[in-house]
Amino acid sequence: MYDPKSLKADDFIDHKEILDTLAYADENKDNIPLIEEILAKAKPVWQGKEVHCAGLSHREASVLLACEDPAMMKKMYALAEEIKLAFYGNRIVIFAPLYLSNYCVNGCLYCPYHTVNKTIPRVKLSQEEIRRQVIALQDMGHKRLAIESGEDPVHNPIEYILESIDTIYSVKHKNGAIRRVNVNIAATTVENYKRLKDAGIGTYILFQETYHKEAYLKLHPTGPKHDYDYHTEAMDRAMEGGIDDVGLGVLFGLDRYRYEFAGLLMHAEHLEAVHGVGPHTISVPRVKRADDIDPDIFDNGISDETFAKLCALIRIAVPYTGMIISTRESQKVREKVLHLGVSQISGASRTSVGGYETEERPHDTEQFDVSDQRTLDEVIYWLMDMGFIPSFCTACYRAGRTGDRFMSLCKTGQIQNCCHPNALMTLQEYLSDYASEKTRALGETLIRKELENIPNPGVRKAAGDYLTRIVGGERDFRF
Ligand code: SAM
Repeated sequence: MYDPKSLKADDFIDHKEILDTLAYADENKDNIPLIEEILAKAKPVWQGKEVHCAGLSHREASVLLACEDPAMMKKMYALAEEIKLAFYGNRIVIFAPLYLSNYCVNGCLYCPYHTVNKTIPRVKLSQEEIRRQVIALQDMGHKRLAIESGEDPVHNPIEYILESIDTIYSVKHKNGAIRRVNVNIAATTVENYKRLKDAGIGTYILFQETYHKEAYLKLHPTGPKHDYDYHTEAMDRAMEGGIDDVGLGVLFGLDRYRYEFAGLLMHAEHLEAVHGVGPHTISVPRVKRADDIDPDIFDNGISDETFAKLCALIRIAVPYTGMIISTRESQKVREKVLHLGVSQISGASRTSVGGYETEERPHDTEQFDVSDQRTLDEVIYWLMDMGFIPSFCTACYRAGRTGDRFMSLCKTGQIQNCCHPNALMTLQEYLSDYASEKTRALGETLIRKELENIPNPGVRKAAGDYLTRIVGGERDFRF
């Protein structure tokens, strides 16, 4: 029985509720008055400087996803952009993945790390190798990492992950520092989530891969990840372990996207219903070609247009949740979805274990082929050239603004007095320490212009002073 408050996976991701939702969406996909009503409900409402958004239920959002009316779709895209601007402005947060180990005991059919792959070289970084990777990442300008690892209790036990997090935070090379480590590792116990929390992680990220249980069981035929319930209930254990910021995701292409979309939103509703706070982020990866993986064997690949629509509707349905897109996607696709709601992107990623130290892209241990292969400097220039502010900010979680405290910052319109100056200051750090001359020139013009968009005169003045001090060599100011 569907129950968003239940702690049982089969209840909060209820198969029948998803099927009923899809049927309801089909019945109403041409019901223009209903669609207009849903769009009106999702519109940002301003009260003075405060902005609120109602978001949408999985049923409402599924109706929009089913609708193919061109005029309505135009409205959806415009609304997604409006919501994006209301909550995230023109800032785009930058991060990089760091692959620690590709040892894995699971049998995931889509992942080249699966046990059946006997030819991929298995690599696990030592703490010294992690140090060198982190120095390479800091030398590019990165401040925020997502660590990734296969699941292997012998090679990659939780102690290894915890030690690696300590190592990453301890490296201080020139003006570099990694200030936020997000963690994407397999589902684990409440006890281990507590240890991750104590190690100072940012977001705990775990992709559901697919919400369709039957498909999930087939796609994960062996290993601990086969346990659908344990995997699907992981975020509840993470929150019980004290982690406020959790990141959801679907691996699009494995199963039917409309089913996944409804499941994803039901998962978000469940977290809100049980823990009082929804997901901090949602990722939208698509299955890619990799070592022994041919993405075409999965029947549910989605076009770039459908992908863009999904991004826009996630933005409309869960306005307070950040949306992440990786270098799995090309520059062209990334360009499109940046306007529709994506708030975080990775840059200059290497998806191979140890990949940041080598000049040439090492392919042999890669998890998936990277579409966007530009350098970080090129990505930063490209973002600014389109009018976005690349942000290396990590202030919120370091100031304890996680979970519902972050959400309330979002809702009270304080983001413009807080995230905006923090973005400008961390961008200035990047420009001073790592950028090419061309990028620095463009960035400093952008910062001067954007400084004027800080509403509070006191904050504007303080941000201006901090920026001068950053140019003078000081680092790490934040609001
Ligand atoms: N091993 C961890 C787990 O079990 O969740 C997470 C780490 S894994 C390195 C990160 C994610 O990469 C997976 O959750 C999956 O969604 C994604 N992934 C795996 N194979 C992929 C492929 N061929 N193309 C795109 N993404 C893939």
